[in-house]
Amino acid sequence: MKVQDLAKELKITPRELLKFIRDINIKVKSGSTRLSASAEGRIRQQYSHRLQIQEKSKANENREPTSIVLSKKTIKVNELVTLFNLSIPEVMSVILKKGFLLSVNSDIDQETAIDIGKALNIEVITEDTTVEDEIGLKTKIMELDNLSSNEKNIDLKTRPPIITVMGHVDHGKTQLLDTIRKTDTITKEFGGITQHIGAYQIQHNNNKLTFLDTPGHEAFTMLRARGAQITDIAILVIAADDGVKPQTIEAIDHIKAADVPIIVAINKIDKKDTDINRVQQELSQHNLISEEFGGDTIMVPVSAKTGEGIDNLLEMIELLAETLELKASFNGLAKAVVIESHLSKQRGPVATVLVKKGFLTIGNPFIVGLTSGKVRAMHNDIGTLLKKIGPGEPAEIIGIETVPDPGSILEVVNSEQALQSLIKQRNNKDSHVKNHKQTISLESLASQINHGDLRQLNLVIKTDVHGSLEAIQNSINKIEFQDVPIRILHASTGIINESDVMLAKASAALIIGFGVSISSEAKAIAKEGKVEIKLYSIIYEMLEDIEKAIKGLYRQEFEDVEIGQVEVRQLFKFSKVGAIAGSYVTEGKVKRNASVKVLREGKEIAQSSITSLKRFQDDIKEVNSGFECGIVLESFNTLKEKDILIVFEKLEKKQNH
Ligand code: GDP
Repeated sequence: MKVQDLAKELKITPRELLKFIRDINIKVKSGSTRLSASAEGRIRQQYSHRLQIQEKSKANENREPTSIVLSKKTIKVNELVTLFNLSIPEVMSVILKKGFLLSVNSDIDQETAIDIGKALNIEVITEDTTVEDEIGLKTKIMELDNLSSNEKNIDLKTRPPIITVMGHVDHGKTQLLDTIRKTDTITKEFGGITQHIGAYQIQHNNNKLTFLDTPGHEAFTMLRARGAQITDIAILVIAADDGVKPQTIEAIDHIKAADVPIIVAINKIDKKDTDINRVQQELSQHNLISEEFGGDTIMVPVSAKTGEGIDNLLEMIELLAETLELKASFNGLAKAVVIESHLSKQRGPVATVLVKKGFLTIGNPFIVGLTSGKVRAMHNDIGTLLKKIGPGEPAEIIGIETVPDPGSILEVVNSEQALQSLIKQRNNKDSHVKNHKQTISLESLASQINHGDLRQLNLVIKTDVHGSLEAIQNSINKIEFQDVPIRILHASTGIINESDVMLAKASAALIIGFGVSISSEAKAIAKEGKVEIKLYSIIYEMLEDIEKAIKGLYRQEFEDVEIGQVEVRQLFKFSKVGAIAGSYVTEGKVKRNASVKVLREGKEIAQSSITSLKRFQDDIKEVNSGFECGIVLESFNTLKEKDILIVFEKLEKKQNH
């Protein structure tokens, strides 16, 4: 059952129900509003229990006012029950409702007794009830409230969701973003004069919602490829008069590859020739099943033109955001992500940032990407100058030295020293990232999985015609794999384009093309991003390559390869390290940490590894043939003159392609 439907039945709002569900510690699948049968049963049971308690307390409120006199400083709960002339459940329901952790045997003070009495419409008169006591009691209750909330959340608070709109061209993404923006009361006041800064925030039902207003999956995946996954919810816009189109499918695949929950907005319902059912049916072929038909996907019919359904769409966003429990820390030095940037003739480098943590404030010095700056001014999409912005809030900022790349992280620093050390750190990291970008190739597959860098083989497949696409997908699905599943992120016909390369880069996927070419832009970014594209014209060759790569995972990946031989010539005894074998490299080379076999008179007597390798007094990594060196072996201290060491190194086994 859906949260919305159960809420309707219980006569509360879906958000109230979600809050209740969270209060009673039942987990709802993140990103879905569907409840399992067992969860639904437990919720119903607990809710009816709550209603009973509420009814009891209502009955208490309706009770004729009475009064009792309390002379003791403290009293046990069951004594109070007797004084009140009520039953234990009647008094305990009030105690529980107030959140006091008390049993019938607990001692309570006068203030608590007064408080409990009030809830039962009973005036508790104490010998020394004064105004100060009332204040004290209030303070105490406030302290209790604070305590419980502090216990529950350690520094994290709910932040607004970040929403991206995607879908096929002309299906109404831009119009939808405009219409949503106009629902904001503040925007309305400003006469709707807005500017594109890359993101805007609206207030709806007292909730803040942040929309990225560069629609389309290209921007979404570009940010992801640069390591900045910021979208919490994707709105997939489909025109009801046009249905699922190639870019709709592309968008679905890009969203799914990013594991972002989807809300489908079936748009243009004001038009005559629309068929919502057909759209839902088409979507089901892409595993997006509407909640009405027992699936998990929220689908909302809307008209971006007339505004019909927009309120419902926003409510669904709020509901979904609620299930995602989006939290951020509002304390500490701010961190933000650059979502757009450009060089302005008048203002210099300009960037739109979205805060992830803390408050970004005017005057804050920061580092962003590999450049730095100080927040000189910030404004939002309606041109309001802002003093500070918190998590989930976007703003265009100036005061940066050079234009930062979208996707870069802005970090506020509190000293010049911290700034310098972060710049240094990032420079190192940048060169590291450049050299070790997470990329994937058929050749490197085995070692990447071995090193735990890759748990599944992601593929993007492009083919010339639909027939070959289906044949290839079917064959790939039949390839037997054990630990490393193959996931086809996207499969379609047509030239390999930038969007394919971005998706592959963002998801560490391999691109496989059959009977297709690569656009020159795609070639360039694939080269820069080290994305491997394999082109084939014979299906079985393609399948064989994939199979080989996958099967390669189950072979012994590394083998011992002999790299040299050493002869022990003289032994030097030291009390600390034992014996150092003065040796001569007769063949190849010897390396520190390499493994060795020890031969004495032609027979292997031990296996070990080299823990220390020296030339004269210096530790050294390797020594070539024709040179002398000092060697100490791991846990083997009885080398003799004329022993031969065969030196091995573990090398990756070559794949046969
Ligand atoms: P995008 O390419 O997805 O951003 O599509 P646009 O927002 O530019 O809209 C494409 C066309 O569809 C424009 O002419 C819009 O006016 C029109 N359009 C968008 N939404 C609606 C709608 O709900 N109803 C109708 N009748 N037209 C719409």
